[in-house]
Amino acid sequence: MKPTIIHEPSTLGLRPTFGFGDRIGLATPGHAAAVRNTRFSPVFAQQSPRELVRTGRTPEEVLSAARSGVEAVGWCTAWGADADHLKTEADAKAMAEAGFTMFTLDPSDLVAAAADRMGQSELESGLEGMLRQSGFESRKAFEDRYLGQSWNLSPELVMRFMDRLHLYRLAYKFGHAIAHAESLARSIQGVCAGRGFELEFAVDALAGPTSPMEHLFIGLELRRRKVPIVSFAPRFPGVFEKGVDFLGDLDVFERSLIGHAAVARYCGPYKLSVHSGSDKFMIYPLLARHCEGMIHVKTSGTSYLEAMRVIAIAETALFQEIVQCAMARYAEERLSYAVSARIDQLPDPLQLAPGELEIEFLDHAPGRQIMHVSYGAVLSGAQTRSGRPMKDAILEALESHAALYRDLLERHLERHLQLLEG
Ligand SMILES: [Zn+2]
Repeated sequence: MKPTIIHEPSTLGLRPTFGFGDRIGLATPGHAAAVRNTRFSPVFAQQSPRELVRTGRTPEEVLSAARSGVEAVGWCTAWGADADHLKTEADAKAMAEAGFTMFTLDPSDLVAAAADRMGQSELESGLEGMLRQSGFESRKAFEDRYLGQSWNLSPELVMRFMDRLHLYRLAYKFGHAIAHAESLARSIQGVCAGRGFELEFAVDALAGPTSPMEHLFIGLELRRRKVPIVSFAPRFPGVFEKGVDFLGDLDVFERSLIGHAAVARYCGPYKLSVHSGSDKFMIYPLLARHCEGMIHVKTSGTSYLEAMRVIAIAETALFQEIVQCAMARYAEERLSYAVSARIDQLPDPLQLAPGELEIEFLDHAPGRQIMHVSYGAVLSGAQTRSGRPMKDAILEALESHAALYRDLLERHLERHLQLLEG
């Protein structure tokens, strides 16, 4: 009997998963080829409201692009659709109504990072109001629940609050964010009544790293509030810049990873989620070693860069125009992304031979970052010299070189998945 194509996204639970953002909408065949023979389940549709605005797409368009890809390759196992970085109820509802199955709650705007520097009296006077507004128990019940307790996460890892001030600081820092995530979860639950959905809690966009103790507090509170999550995205230590490998101290990263993995097993179990996960080849073996398959990795811009590589190889003149647009808009587009490239590190694209163009703008770090963050400018609004929307020219090029695009995506993402499999 011929296996049936799975046309609709579904929940994927605790199996290892890999998120493939596709900002253009033609990448699923390449993604499918890369993930096919691995133990990872694919999340073929993954888009945040911010990316939707930048690319001028709707949630429905993102899902239907993934469905067309699934149809084209005859995909016969479960796949997911992640509404990434949800910050508002309106966005959460719109993505749920469109049919997404995974919802990444991002309450990081409500994290009170200033709590790290607040003194005792300030914390004590602010706490009562925060507990009341944010759905905590009475102060007494709250203290009884968390103070004087210890959590044996593993034989080597016992965690506890050092003292009352430590608890207050942590609660003050994350209290409003936890409550906001809970209310986002409730509105998603309302729209998805009667069908499956799953939730991720993400604070990866914060400036400072999340400690395993902070994670434990959030995980315990989510459990108490009956907000079940399948994955948790801490802000890991080190630098996770777009389009380039991990920068930072690998030992510090590894220690933090071991702590977070233990907390995730204890509070869930749920998976650890690694955002900006593309091209972080240095950390994949550590993820494979310490997460025991309880892992979700998100990538997105790296597939856009492979689309650009198709154009660099097959349509050099168009690629030069895209590079010029990316360079002109970089100062503005970089603001909401973690990148450090400077325009003055780059050569003039008009002076380069085709092969050099590809190397400078798609292999070297500064060029990759400039191309990576300017997708919004390129895909919505920009025009080619002949007055055509740049997006149309890109779509046409990718359609006429579909086999090359699929092969480049497969080769690039296979490298990620092989290392992650350990
Ligand atoms: Zn993220």
